[in-house]
Amino acid sequence: MGIEIMTRLLVIGEGIAAQAFLNSLIHEDIVDKFTSITQLSHSELAPLTSWNSTAIAALRGTRRGMSPLGDELVDMWEESNQAYTQEKWKGVYPIELHSWIYSDKSDRRYGHLPKVEKSFFECKIKPRGISTERAWVIDPKVFLQNITTPKNLVKKKSLVTSLVQGEKCWRVETLDKEVFEADIVVLASGHWAQWMQEYYAGSPLEGLKPYQGSYYQWENVSFGERGFSVIIEGSNFIYQAENKRLILGATSLNGVDHFIADKVGLKKIYDHFQSYADVNLPSIQESQIHTGIRSQTKGRRPWAGKLQNNLYAIGGLYKTGWVSSIPLARQLAKSLFSSDQ
Ligand SMILES: Cc1cc2nc3c(=O)[nH]c(=O)nc-3n(C[C@H](O)[C@H](O)[C@H](O)COP(=O)(O)OP(=O)(O)OC[C@H]3O[C@@H](n4cnc5c(N)ncnc54)[C@H](O)[C@@H]3O)c2cc1C
Repeated sequence: MGIEIMTRLLVIGEGIAAQAFLNSLIHEDIVDKFTSITQLSHSELAPLTSWNSTAIAALRGTRRGMSPLGDELVDMWEESNQAYTQEKWKGVYPIELHSWIYSDKSDRRYGHLPKVEKSFFECKIKPRGISTERAWVIDPKVFLQNITTPKNLVKKKSLVTSLVQGEKCWRVETLDKEVFEADIVVLASGHWAQWMQEYYAGSPLEGLKPYQGSYYQWENVSFGERGFSVIIEGSNFIYQAENKRLILGATSLNGVDHFIADKVGLKKIYDHFQSYADVNLPSIQESQIHTGIRSQTKGRRPWAGKLQNNLYAIGGLYKTGWVSSIPLARQLAKSLFSSDQ
């Protein structure tokens, strides 16, 4: 059964998964048939990973022919790269990403990419090579707040505490006891998907695993007129020239779902970067530490699809949200209108 006329749609989330989905809807002619589109989220009680993300869209050396997941990521990159190029969204900037190769592991990952003689800093320890690739750096809040969404969208700051299927529609209750009825519900709730885990049973989003990550962020620093990124054996330096922002990180803590940053791990990244690159990093005291929770599926594959009748989800975006969400959201938006549903 395809979508019916006079349908109320409710989306939970306002991160990249939700915004990419809402943006995809505007490209579907039938979007005007929704009698209402409501978006619920709560940035304090369910903090967004998307606001606490180093937010680079890049392949980072992934290529076809290595694994099915790698092939999928390349397809997703091609679609999102085209979207970032064509749509000219606010808060999205093209950059060059250099990876300094020292280990066999990095060589396997980046060795096939084109090389440059000179990077953005002098090397204190000479690498085997410096690879270069195209990437996009994203200012998450600017991007998410400005991406076009359907004109009849109503956005509310509310924490969903219950989701129940009634006889004719879904009933959603919030912390402040407001009740919403909806014919179609889309869950784009990131790591907080755990709160509604009974609906994920049997789907690829069952048993999502948290991976906490932190990074340093400095404002009003200058490393030149053009943005760029340098990866040195997992330490990622990202400079956003447009708003003079520097990011250095990120840590990756398997199974950790709280917001206490791994300061020891972060300091190691800071020292590691300075020992390889001839760069004067601003002091740690002047930085702000950002922490977010990535959410990983069993096969590390991000997923979007149908959970049950008129209930859909997009999630498990793990470390690739800025690459995978756009193609997945488009696929999900189309599936709502397809006659196979
Ligand atoms: C440190 C770090 C660095 C990263 N770097 C990169 C990178 O460079 N490139 C990349 O592609 N990816 C990166 N990622 C991953 C990427 O940021 C995530 O995959 C992506 O942001 C997840 O988006 P989301 O929309 O699924 O979840 P979120 O952004 O977390 O959004 C979830 C939304 O659901 C809402 N919500 C949840 N439950 C409820 C409820 N019960 N009621 C109401 N609202 C609810 C929340 O309020 C929120 O709005 C990084 C992640 C981290 C932590």
